[in-house]
Amino acid sequence: MRILLVEDEKRLSSALQKLLQKERYEVDAVYTGTDGLDYALTEGYDAVILDVMLPGMDGFEVLRRMREQKIATPVLMLTARGGVEDRVHGLTAGADYYLPKPFDTSELMACLKVITRRGDAVPRMTLSFGDVELSEGEGKLRCTATGKDVKLGAKEYQLMEFFLRNPGQILPRETIQERVWGYDSEAEYNNLEVYVSFLRKKLTFVGSGVKLKATRGLGYSLEVEG
Ligand code: CA
Repeated sequence: MRILLVEDEKRLSSALQKLLQKERYEVDAVYTGTDGLDYALTEGYDAVILDVMLPGMDGFEVLRRMREQKIATPVLMLTARGGVEDRVHGLTAGADYYLPKPFDTSELMACLKVITRRGDAVPRMTLSFGDVELSEGEGKLRCTATGKDVKLGAKEYQLMEFFLRNPGQILPRETIQERVWGYDSEAEYNNLEVYVSFLRKKLTFVGSGVKLKATRGLGYSLEVEG
């Protein structure tokens, strides 16, 4: 992750650089609004930390020109002025987050994590085997042959995900139990059968040819029928 830090207070800038580097961000620090804009326009950053009161050009103007040039990099604005008008101004000018000074460093790091996550467009992962697909986020089991899908509960999802990551292998009950329910789950031990039966019903419901096969004394495996 590369961060552009635009802050004219040298002490604050160097403290933030150290902090960010410790968190393994790569940081370019500049000290004027004009440099901030130049860097923001030419380099690919994952986020910009932008002060409002800056020599050369203020932070609002830097932000306005960035957005005008279609630079969509997430921006976290810092300012000593904590007024509501400034906050509204910052957000309408296209800032993603507004942090009044003085701020807590943990608050800054949390904001940065939020805005950079929003900024990255990593596609959701889809697991598949035979004619079934499970897409992360949606929590839906889909059959590519019939086009039908069904929503899975949280445990059903975790269980299906584990089978799809290990297709065609007999997975011992204890291993499944441990992965899906955790180590200390004595009380829920028998639930595995229940959840396997739920998943079987859902596989049948979507019209899939994929089966959850039980092998006595060994465990369960995800197989393509026939
Ligand atoms: Ca300043």
